[in-house]
Amino acid sequence: MTFTFVTLFSNLIEGYFNDSILKRAMEKSLFSVKYLNPRDFSTNKHSKVDDTAFGGGAGMVMNPQPLFDALDSLKKEDENVHIVFMTPVAKPFVQNDAKRLAKKSHVAFVSGRYEGIDERVIEKYADEVFSIGDYILTGGELASLVVCDAVSRNIEGVLGNSASLEVESFETPLLEAPSFSKPKLYEGLSVPSEYLKGNHSKIRSLKLALSESKTKFFRPQELKKHKATQKLS
Ligand code: SAM
Repeated sequence: MTFTFVTLFSNLIEGYFNDSILKRAMEKSLFSVKYLNPRDFSTNKHSKVDDTAFGGGAGMVMNPQPLFDALDSLKKEDENVHIVFMTPVAKPFVQNDAKRLAKKSHVAFVSGRYEGIDERVIEKYADEVFSIGDYILTGGELASLVVCDAVSRNIEGVLGNSASLEVESFETPLLEAPSFSKPKLYEGLSVPSEYLKGNHSKIRSLKLALSESKTKFFRPQELKKHKATQKLS
C-alpha cells in the first residue's frame, strides 16, 4: 500500500515514520510513503500557492492551479489513488473509516494551510473528506498523520499481534476495559485482584463490567446503543 501526503510542509510529517511500529512496517514493505508538494507545480514566477479570498475574509486561500496540477500528476501515475482531503468541514473520521481505507492500494491525503483550499479543488478531486474533530488546526499535516496512523495499523502485518485490534475501543460500541502491568502494587496502588487470579471467565466478566462503566461515563449514548442491540440479539 502507498500513502501520498500532498503538502507544502513534508518535513512536518517525515519524522513520524522514522521510529517505532510504522518504521518497522515500512522496512517490511507493508506500506510506503511519498510526498507531493503543490509548490513544485506552481506556474507563478515566485512559486506562490495562495492568494486573497474572493468575497473578502481574513487570510489567504490555496489556489487551484498548483493543486490541480499536482493531483493530475498523481492520478496520471496511479489512476486508483483514493484522494482524501483533510478539512474541519467534513464528517468526523472514525475507526470504520480506518479499516475501510486500509484495504485501498493507494491513499493520498491533501493538507490545507492558511484559511484552507479553494473549494473547486475539493469538488474536482476529493474521493472523500474528513475532519479529525471539532477544532481548528493550523494545517492539515497533523490531521493527515492521525488518519494515516489509524489506517496503517489496520494493514495486515503492521501490528505484531493482530488480536490487539479485535479488543480495542471502537471495535465494539464499548470502550476498552482498563489495562494494568507489573508490578502488582505500585506506590500503594494495586491491580484489581481478579486480573491476577488467572480465572479467564471471571476476568472477562470483570473487564466487560469495567468497559460498560467506562462507556457509561464517557459515551452514555453508545452504551444505550449497545444495550439495545443486546436486547435484540
Ligand atoms: N478556515 C477553515 C475553517 O474555518 O473551516 C480552517 C482552515 S485551517 C486553519 C487550515 C487547514 O488545516 C485546513 O484546510 C485543513 O486541511 C486543516 N485542518 C484544520 N482543522 C482540521 C480538522 N479539525 N480536521 C481536519 N483538517 C483540519
